[in-house]
Amino acid sequence: MLAMDYRGPYRVRAAEKAEPKIEHPNDAIVRVTRSCICGSDLHLYHGLVPDTRVGMTFGHEFCGIVEEVGPSVQNLKKGDKVLVPFNIFCGTCYFCKKELFSNCHNTNPSATAVGGIFGYSHTTGGYDGGQAELVRVPMADVGPTVLPPDMDEDDAVLLTDAFPTGYQAAEMGGIREGDTVVVFGAGPVGIFAAKSAWLMGAGRVIVVDHVEYRLEFVRNFAQCEIVNFKEVDDMAIHIKKMTDWLGADVCIDAVGAEATGNALQHLTGVKLKLQAGAATVLHWCINSVRKGGTVSIVGVYGPTFNMVPIGNVVNKGLTLRANQASVKRHLPRLIEHIQAGRIKPSEVITHRFPLEAVADAYHIFSSKLDNCIKPVLLP
Ligand code: NAD
Ligand code: ZN
Ligand code: ZN
Repeated sequence: MLAMDYRGPYRVRAAEKAEPKIEHPNDAIVRVTRSCICGSDLHLYHGLVPDTRVGMTFGHEFCGIVEEVGPSVQNLKKGDKVLVPFNIFCGTCYFCKKELFSNCHNTNPSATAVGGIFGYSHTTGGYDGGQAELVRVPMADVGPTVLPPDMDEDDAVLLTDAFPTGYQAAEMGGIREGDTVVVFGAGPVGIFAAKSAWLMGAGRVIVVDHVEYRLEFVRNFAQCEIVNFKEVDDMAIHIKKMTDWLGADVCIDAVGAEATGNALQHLTGVKLKLQAGAATVLHWCINSVRKGGTVSIVGVYGPTFNMVPIGNVVNKGLTLRANQASVKRHLPRLIEHIQAGRIKPSEVITHRFPLEAVADAYHIFSSKLDNCIKPVLLP
């Protein structure tokens, strides 16, 4: 089968690989019909995530058709159209029982805090991902969700990660009626966080980025105010000026490692071709939020990163919330929002590529070329 194949930082290709097989009675094999590239894949592509092995297939945002199920699978059958959450989780451990599916105890042998994730290095279990014609889906009775009959596949594929992650970012912010919410990052996750903030009752939503076409997009998609950080001297002062000198009630980090640019280059030795400067979004969040406010972090940080102004967190009495999203927990509510016409997630899809063009797709998405917001591979 054809699959995305990682060769090293900034080097990916489409290559012939062996087809995946059922390895456990609760596995399924899914024939992939849509597979997005995520900002998280860019951290792998940029060489920022430890133990990303040459030969791995990335891809944790996919939907498709069930091709084969293992003997113990009861909830799926051949031919079912499914969306597959990016988390691989058991559904029965201590954490899964609390619906902390992203922290499952049983699906990541590398024993980091996060559970299993498709196509996301050996730090999250070493599972091959769905940027391929076929993918093995472990715990197939638990994660995959059969598409409602009226669901557009382009919307469905955004329910595997970007929309639920944006939604959880807003949820972890504990947004109350009328709150001012600042979202850092106008990628798909930030875009959905901004939209979700309104769904949760925000009174004002401000999105910060430096890529003008993304800011324009989010302004239209989520009716929010926008700030281009290249035009701002001091982010915290700027946000305070916009909020009667109080600061925002909630700040959301939807950027992650990308914003740690120079520091990460130093730590990893990988020469980064990133556009962002040394200012970290964590600083901006912590310094722009009001006293007693909440900082919600969904941006992904690969290596240890310890330049957080923790003194300000203490002195301002802040709440910090962070996690990988537990996709499955949000699906019923998000499907309802889509069916009620409150949101059309697929509007963020700007590019479609055959799997053969995976190298171009990564390059265009990473370099923010051609007004790219969300690329989808069509195996
Ligand atoms: P993306 O790369 O498409 O978007 C990131 C955006 O941040 C870009 O538009 C970039 O210009 C902007 N940016 C860079 N530096 C900035 C700064 N200093 N201030 C404000 N904006 C800045 O990525 P995405 O797919 O939207 O994902 C965003 C983040 O969320 C990534 O770190 C990704 O790994 C993470 N993520 C987390 C989860 C989770 O479950 N927690 C799930 C999916 C993605
Ligand atoms: Zn993703
Ligand atoms: Zn579990």
